[in-house]
Amino acid sequence: MTPANFDFHCHSIVSDGLLAPAVVARRAAANGVDLWALTDHDDLGGLVEARATADEVGMPFVNGVEISIEWRGVPIHIVGLGFDAANAGLVNGLNELRAGRIERARRMGDALAAVGIPGVYEGALCFVTNPSLISRAHFGRYMVSIGIARDMAGVFQHYLTPGKPGYVDHRWATLDEAVGWIAGAGGVAVVAHPGRYKMSGADMRRFLDDFKDCGGRGLEVTCGSHSPDHVMHFARLARHYEFHASRGSDFHGPEESYVDLGKLPQLPEDLKPVWRLVV
Ligand code: AMP
Ligand code: MN
Ligand code: MN
Ligand code: MN
Repeated sequence: MTPANFDFHCHSIVSDGLLAPAVVARRAAANGVDLWALTDHDDLGGLVEARATADEVGMPFVNGVEISIEWRGVPIHIVGLGFDAANAGLVNGLNELRAGRIERARRMGDALAAVGIPGVYEGALCFVTNPSLISRAHFGRYMVSIGIARDMAGVFQHYLTPGKPGYVDHRWATLDEAVGWIAGAGGVAVVAHPGRYKMSGADMRRFLDDFKDCGGRGLEVTCGSHSPDHVMHFARLARHYEFHASRGSDFHGPEESYVDLGKLPQLPEDLKPVWRLVV
């Protein structure tokens, strides 16, 4: 098979997306996606529904997840693709990772209360669609709803990013753990949206060295948060490291995402597409 429009990064209500897995599947198919992965944050709970709907509409599907890690103090996301979703190491690792989110969310609420915005943890809970997966996106949606900022970009910029009052440090998984869980379950690990991380070129290369050393094989080159310059830059790094290239919209919902499912530019032609490793 040679897909013309694969999309390997998006979210449903199983994490911080706005649509049910079945609805995301139908939207992907309607937008012309011909090979799809659902990649909810730290949770595999949407995969059965996603696959069933993908089967129904005749769209090939691979299992996906987006794992939250920290590398030398930098929060980073690792996408896993094509793994066995029943693998105990992966399932247990993700269970533990999710458990830490509740306590982190409480600390975020305390930190915001300390700057005069009380009740945000409780408010964010009203936006949560999976009780075991509370994310900054839920905080952002609640804070927009009470008029703290006009939109998500504003609330993240002023409250929810490093150095801002609602941002707290947190122990995520390690790089080794995340790549190990994915590879141990027969899947392929891919660095999500590398253009989003605040690190120097030297640190990015150090990170990619570590990622490759522990078994990572892919890099998102084309994605919802990459400019054309990012695409060129990370295409060069994919060639240098001999990584397979991924393409994913990072769609969360119709009102919130810059790029819809299946609406990304194609990968640079000479790169090895990551779907070859998972179909
Ligand atoms: P968390 O995993 O709890 O740290 O939350 C990260 C999530 O917040 C991302 O997956 C996005 O859904 C959302 N997010 C992060 N930065 C922004 C931003 N600048 N604007 C809107 N949403 C964002
Ligand atoms: Mn998200
Ligand atoms: Mn991400
Ligand atoms: Mn994502």
